[in-house]
Order: sequence, then structure tokens, then C-alpha cells
Amino acid sequence: MSKGKNGLRLGSLKYMLELTSRCNLRCGMCPMDVLTRPFEDAPWDMVEDVARQMRELKLPMKYLHEMGEPLLYKRLPEAIDLFPGVCVSTNGTLLNEQWSRDILATSLAKIRICIDTLKPEVYPIVRKGGKFDVVVENIRNGKGKMYGYDARNDVYVDLLKAGIIDPAKVTRSALENAASIAAMVLTTETLVTEIPEAPSKAPAPPPMDS
Ligand code: SF4
Repeated sequence: MSKGKNGLRLGSLKYMLELTSRCNLRCGMCPMDVLTRPFEDAPWDMVEDVARQMRELKLPMKYLHEMGEPLLYKRLPEAIDLFPGVCVSTNGTLLNEQWSRDILATSLAKIRICIDTLKPEVYPIVRKGGKFDVVVENIRNGKGKMYGYDARNDVYVDLLKAGIIDPAKVTRSALENAASIAAMVLTTETLVTEIPEAPSKAPAPPPMDS
């Protein structure tokens, strides 16, 4: 495993690239406004350069996000494809149908939509500037047929790409087998079953010698 100048094992680190420090919300818990850095987008040539260096070092990019809203970055789909298997985290407010289609057509591994509460009345307090209904609508509408919730990883993903599928053949076979058994019972008017046995009594302990 390659090591950096300070002896850090580079492969054991988690890499995140913030494409933009801009955000359309001002969440209560976000330190964004107390930071002194400017609100701006990462220059595209820098993003490409990071991708090139990571390819050379064979290091995976984990997230295209740190703070800021990645959907404000116009070249997000291209950026995702520069880092195969990368994840994106968004507040979901801008995730309209077009964005969803564009993003799901990339090599994106996961998308995390941060809501923080399922109570519509609490949402605008936590996620200042956001509209709960809009995010819910975006999640419902801005998706392909295969878009859904991956409960194990707590993210919304393309279920087909993530391998979360219910093959039609399994469902069809289960239905066919159930119908076949039902038909057999009806035509033969016979059903064989096992009568459960009463639990046997424990054997008596041997007599004591003394
Ligand atoms: S959406 Fe994220 S980056 Fe934007 S204000 Fe909220 S916590 Fe901060």
C-alpha cells in the first residue's frame, strides 16, 4: 500500500472532494456561514487534475461532497464519471426530474438525500430555506422506475444497479408452485400432513447407590 510523505497509508483514507462551497439552504446546524472561505465552485481543470492523480495512485474517491450543495455544480454528472463508484450527498431540494435522470445515467454508486426529519413542521426549522413537500415530491418524481430506498445503507439508489432486485422469475415460480399445490388438494381432496408428536417425558434418573 502506498504511503504519503508523513507515513500515512493512503489507501486507508477516505477521500472527499467538495465541488462547490455554495449552498441554497442555511441549515441550523451548518457552520457554513461562520467559515471565512469564499462561496465558489471548484475549477473544472482542478477537478480533472484530482481525478488524474487519484487514478495514478489507484485511490478511490468516496464522496463528491463535504459542505455545499453538489447539485449547484453544473458539471456534476461529468465529475461523477471522472470518479467511478463515487457517492453524492444532497439536500434534495434541487433534485428535479432532469437532474435525477442526468445523475442516474452516470457511474454514481450512491446518492444520499439528507432530510434530517420526517416531520414537515420541523423540517423548515432544521433545513432553513428548504421545503419539505418539494423534497418529498423530488424523491417521488425525480426518479426512474428503478429508483428506491436501500434500507441497509440508508440511501436512495438505482435499485437495479445496486443489485436490489426481486426477479420476476422467483415471484412467478412461487405463485405457480402455490397454485399447483392448491389444484392438487382440490382434485384429490386429500391432504397429507404430519401430526405433531407430544414431547416425550424425560427418562427417570437411575437409583442412587448410597
Ligand atoms: S444543505 Fe448541507 S451544506 Fe447546505 S446549509 Fe444545509 S447542512 Fe450546510
